[in-house]
Amino acid sequence: MKKFIVPSLVSIFFITLLACTNLSSAEPASVNTANQSIGNKDTIITKVIKAYGGEKLSSLRSFRIEDKNMETYPGQGFTPDYTDFWDTRSIIQLDLIDKRGDFETWGDQYGRILHFRGITTQDSAISIDYWNQTFENVSEFTFYQRHGGNIRFSDTLLAYELAKATNKSEYLGTVNYRGMPHHHIQLEMPESPPLSLYVGMQDFMIKRMHRILPTLEVFYLFDNHAQKNGISFAKDFRFFYDSDFILSTVKREIFVNKLTNDAFTAENAVKVAPEAFDNSEAIVNKLSDNAYHLGTENFSAFVDAGDHIIGIGGYGGLKDRFEAYQKEVSNNKPLRYQVVTHHHTDHMEGLSEAYALGATLVMSENIVDNVKDVVDGLSDERIITYENQDTFGPIELHEVSTSHSEFNTVTYIPEAKALFQADHYGGFLANGPSPATRSSYSLKQELDKLNLDIEKILSVHSGKVETWSDYASSMSQYDPNPCRLNRPICAN
Ligand SMILES: [Zn+2]
Repeated sequence: MKKFIVPSLVSIFFITLLACTNLSSAEPASVNTANQSIGNKDTIITKVIKAYGGEKLSSLRSFRIEDKNMETYPGQGFTPDYTDFWDTRSIIQLDLIDKRGDFETWGDQYGRILHFRGITTQDSAISIDYWNQTFENVSEFTFYQRHGGNIRFSDTLLAYELAKATNKSEYLGTVNYRGMPHHHIQLEMPESPPLSLYVGMQDFMIKRMHRILPTLEVFYLFDNHAQKNGISFAKDFRFFYDSDFILSTVKREIFVNKLTNDAFTAENAVKVAPEAFDNSEAIVNKLSDNAYHLGTENFSAFVDAGDHIIGIGGYGGLKDRFEAYQKEVSNNKPLRYQVVTHHHTDHMEGLSEAYALGATLVMSENIVDNVKDVVDGLSDERIITYENQDTFGPIELHEVSTSHSEFNTVTYIPEAKALFQADHYGGFLANGPSPATRSSYSLKQELDKLNLDIEKILSVHSGKVETWSDYASSMSQYDPNPCRLNRPICAN
């Protein structure tokens, strides 16, 4: 099964917003193609358009969708036992005449607030990060690159696209779906592979959309259709990557030709985002005589323990980082141990690489089953577990429970006075510390209890070695307010 891995817990909406959809076309799954006459195609598409509102649909000027959702990512839950859901909300506003878009999402992920907004007008595009009250200009964009993902989340907007692109659409006959024949229509949409629609034969409502991307298949399910102001829409929407359930609406409302007063405008309080720390090139941080932190985009630490090396952090690409380390220090000592930070699947992708290099995996006793699930053929002799805390050669292992994950191993390297952690905190700004989040603040509370002499904070997702004083000063300014600028999406 193809696996979709979310590098850190970022809202699916924001990924949709950032994703460039300029992808190669792909054929839809094979179906009964018995009936392909043009007349039939036009008749069926006309019935779909009529079912969604007819003239009211094709003359839509604007459309607003307000959703409350449950969202999840496989392998990214708080506890190692199961993957749970978190609440997200979104407001999509599209000006269909002037091709402007405004797309806001708010999510509460185990206390960490993800609140973003993308505004696209004919000559500019910005992305707003409300938690930090900053914005960035997006240099390359089209309406469909930025908002195609929003359109695909709505059966009404798919029907609207169908009304506009009837001549480019194809009728592929009938297809059996949930024990019933459905009309099968292929819809051409800009900046996307063709979309495959299953349409009810009685009500002409879109029940399913299927999109084949180069590395995965995406399924959109629509159900429980209703009407408002003469426009039809599915009240229930569900979204899958391959076989993985990602999102379900809890409540969907639509607004026909009715945008909010502040659509397409950002508050003056939102300032230009400060310069980001550049992680795109290889970075090597020598922390002390025997300890290094290095990588490109994602980072590991390596500690020389005399006749062998201990690696810390199991993110994918570990072999490359270990080889870069060997080259840097000009030795061939074996990677004998590899410390696992936590059970999130992206942080276990490199463990098979470490195992193949001969390493024994060192982890909290609470995540052994998760590690066994991802490392093929892992033998019990090559697992070392610890409880609460342990000194392991030149390093100390501490298990902390935070808002990010129930069991995290943070590794203290006394020689370097450095602490390695995975997802709580990254030095993402070129100058000064990153603003506090629920996760970084939660880590700080746990570290304070450990009373370690920490001078440097190391991260998996940034090559910037942050000083303890910068980190601590940022955490002292933690503001838990989950609704910045009192935005309507989260105010109530
Ligand atoms: Zn994580």
